Amino acid sequence: MHQTSGLRESAAAFPLPTVVDDAAERRHANRAVGWSAAGLAVTGLLELAVALVSGSVGLLGDALHNLSDVSTSLVVFLGFRISRRAATERYPYGYDRAEDLAGVGIAVVIWASAVLAGIESVHKLLEHGTTSHVGWGIAGAAIGIAGNQVVARYKLRVGRRINSATLIADAKHSWLDALSSAGALLGLIGVLAGAPWADPVAGLVVTLFICHVGWEVTSDVTHRLMDGVDPDIVTSAEDAVMRIDGVRHAHARARWTGRTLRLEIEAWLDATTTVAASDALGRNAADRIAHDLPEVRSLTWIARAV
Ligand SMILES: [Zn+2]
Repeated sequence: MHQTSGLRESAAAFPLPTVVDDAAERRHANRAVGWSAAGLAVTGLLELAVALVSGSVGLLGDALHNLSDVSTSLVVFLGFRISRRAATERYPYGYDRAEDLAGVGIAVVIWASAVLAGIESVHKLLEHGTTSHVGWGIAGAAIGIAGNQVVARYKLRVGRRINSATLIADAKHSWLDALSSAGALLGLIGVLAGAPWADPVAGLVVTLFICHVGWEVTSDVTHRLMDGVDPDIVTSAEDAVMRIDGVRHAHARARWTGRTLRLEIEAWLDATTTVAASDALGRNAADRIAHDLPEVRSLTWIARAV
């Protein structure tokens, strides 16, 4: 059986007939995220070590970026774990929101690493700081490029195989991160060519990269915490229900709690409709919605008299 079925049954007011069996795909996705995080952790720690030895702030920013990406995966994994717990009387909707809460934690980590990388870069630029062991620094940046490229290709391959938009988007993120490491590399080549300011400037560019990621994560988390949803979900649900004979009019509302999409349908029926007939209409609606909107995991059916 499906892992989240207990949670869904306790939270849903109306049975949804078909369920997308995505347990195997989730396992693949989790494995891909796990291995990528391990690869990025090694990459980030190597970069951090070289950054501390060489004093390169470009490399420091890139290391912080990679390590905050790793913490992102860890926090998402933790949130995912917690969100699988069954609903209780104290938490009747289950623990889905743990993922959204985890998102807030991730945003804080990313912004903190952006501030740290930015401050270090500005200090070095103003104080004309120097960079030593530039050869090691270049090797560190090359590891950053290679590590992110390997992770990006791996995520893209798994993402395409299991058709996961999240994983494919994540692969694009890692590909951009390889560009960020290339920025750190350019800065160090600049230092080698006799421009000591090139490293702190690269550090500022890398900081902008971190800010970009911070902005994306923050707007995504805010959208979810505000119960924002793709408007198409609402209109397709209303269309599906209004095509049913016996339904005069329908209003839909939807919101995500973590990975669970909850749908409320308010349907206007003839005043003479019996409770049994209304129940049958609701089951019909559940069938259609399961077909049109397979991501819906919980359906509440509210019958109103015209
Ligand atoms: Zn990143």
